[in-house]
Amino acid sequence: MKPCPECKSNNVYRYKQPVDAAGPYGPDLLPKLAPGIFSQAKLVTVVCIDCGYIRLYASKDALKKLEKSEHWVPA
Ligand SMILES: [Zn+2]
Repeated sequence: MKPCPECKSNNVYRYKQPVDAAGPYGPDLLPKLAPGIFSQAKLVTVVCIDCGYIRLYASKDALKKLEKSEHWVPA
């Protein structure tokens, strides 16, 4: 995750735990990759403290489901 792809800084921070990929008022960024019916797929959030660039990564659990999902196709 280092360096920042925008400004090349190594001062990047990752939120301690993955966050939900879908909020009540936002889009579902990782549809059909939730671990269960009553949960959401998770994102890992990384922010550069020098330029503010924000990156989102799919959590490891979401990535495990991705390749075998019938809803996702190779790009
Ligand atoms: Zn940066």
